[in-house]
Amino acid sequence: MGSTRSGNRYDVIVVGAGNAALTAALSAGQAGSRVLVLEKAPKSLRGGNSRFSGGLFRFAYESIEDIKPLRPDVAPGDWERVEADTYTPDRYMGDLVRTSRGQSSSELLQVLTQQSHPTMVWMTGLGIEWDWTPLWSVHSDESLQFSPGTVLEVKDKGVGLIAYLFRAVEGAGIDVSYQAKVTGLLQDSQGRVGGVRVRTPDGLDEVPADAVVLASGGFEANAEMRARYLGRGWDQVKVRGTRYNTGETLRMALDIGAKPVGHWQGCHATPIDGDAPAVGDLRLTDRTNRLSYPYSIMVNALGRRFVDEGEDLGGLTYAKTGRAILDQPGAIAYQIFDRKTVHLLEERYSTGTPIVANSIEELARKLSLPPDELVHTVGQYNAAVQPGTFDPSSKDGKTAVGVEPPKSNWALTIDTPPYTVYPVACGITFTYGGIQIDTESRVIDTEDNPISGLFATGEITGDFFYHNYPGGSGLMRGAVFGRIAGANASAMSQAK
Ligand SMILES: Cc1cc2nc3c(=O)[nH]c(=O)nc-3n(C[C@H](O)[C@H](O)[C@H](O)COP(=O)(O)OP(=O)(O)OC[C@H]3O[C@@H](n4cnc5c(N)ncnc54)[C@H](O)[C@@H]3O)c2cc1C
Repeated sequence: MGSTRSGNRYDVIVVGAGNAALTAALSAGQAGSRVLVLEKAPKSLRGGNSRFSGGLFRFAYESIEDIKPLRPDVAPGDWERVEADTYTPDRYMGDLVRTSRGQSSSELLQVLTQQSHPTMVWMTGLGIEWDWTPLWSVHSDESLQFSPGTVLEVKDKGVGLIAYLFRAVEGAGIDVSYQAKVTGLLQDSQGRVGGVRVRTPDGLDEVPADAVVLASGGFEANAEMRARYLGRGWDQVKVRGTRYNTGETLRMALDIGAKPVGHWQGCHATPIDGDAPAVGDLRLTDRTNRLSYPYSIMVNALGRRFVDEGEDLGGLTYAKTGRAILDQPGAIAYQIFDRKTVHLLEERYSTGTPIVANSIEELARKLSLPPDELVHTVGQYNAAVQPGTFDPSSKDGKTAVGVEPPKSNWALTIDTPPYTVYPVACGITFTYGGIQIDTESRVIDTEDNPISGLFATGEITGDFFYHNYPGGSGLMRGAVFGRIAGANASAMSQAK
């Protein structure tokens, strides 16, 4: 058992104070351990990317009956309005495998998908309250239609998530130190991790403990590491979330032999407001996102389309669409809607200022795009739109074909003014490369052995996501493996 300068003694240290860290701390606390959470940010900025998030959790359920225990606040009669296709662990797995092109660890994905629902029930027991998500769903007085797997988000989104988790942390008597940046891992002569080095406003300290859980995020807020790993153009990209995820604990883990795994040149990046700040702002949280593009056509600064906007459900394409925008001239793009679709825009678009025009030529002038090219692009696309029934609530197979790129769903002509346009840039959310954990959340070394005393969860871990990602899986991954990491770190402490 370790001790700190203040004299308190701890069994388990958790590094970070986002969703992954706090679920790990709560799990270790429930297992009877004395836990210390070390958070680099000051208290006012605590909570990492999790606090910026939309609070959406993707989880598996056989039927609506599985969702009911998570929403005790919903009146029995109101469940009749809920339409959510069954989303089994196998279907969740299928989405993860498809988006990651089959490259992820199937053992880790099995745990993520199978433990998603039990972990949602556990979090509800911790005091988390849930709401229906508006994301990729269509709500009316008659029905609430959800995209499979994405039904619930935390009440008040990421801000609510962190508030609920801290309420539980305080209720459990778990200590939290702020402005406590972990700068090193302590190892004994056997290589066991037995605490951390930490820098606080009071100076440098060493805090021993029986086990350490790393839950300190990825390297998305570190321009040097972005350039080094993600490549050209990424150093200048906008950061959607916290400024504190700068990857130093990831490097520390690698330095003591943790195995680097996953897609080190890959990251989650989405279309965001072209005027969004360079780093996440807690007054805006996730509201700079611009995800209604499946109902638009997107053009670049040359006036040309560059992606299939309707390739799949929005929740299965948005995380790779930021990269597609970054690859365009000037790293900018324009989402064009007309009167037929503008009512479908997510509420978050209200944080931006659209450019509106009554003809495509006027639009081109206002956007400083080559008018002939834009008129040609829209005309060619409109001519390629096939007959069919437009249905924004599911993949409708209404296509534009014979045009490059095609549009596989939701292809309506762009011909009914006024035309409403939102300029978008690429915003990085989190990085995919990380350290190897096993299904017990133990950190694995380059010789495939567990590093004794070291556990990890959340963004710092790799081998979950490659190329792309199904929306709502980041928070779920952090909580599933946070719960496991906390329990196992506690068990290791008690076994000593
Ligand atoms: C705008 C936005 C919206 C999102 N929306 C969703 C969503 O709706 N659903 C979803 O599933 N995912 C979403 N994500 C992704 C999701 O937020 C992340 O995958 C998830 O929050 C990561 O959790 P984490 O606990 O691993 O990291 P974080 O929540 O980022 O926590 C990392 C913590 O580590 C701390 N830290 C870093 N370095 C140190 C150090 N050296 N010492 C001590 N502490 C340190 C940080 O201060 C921070 O508290 C979103 C992300 C963003 C940015």
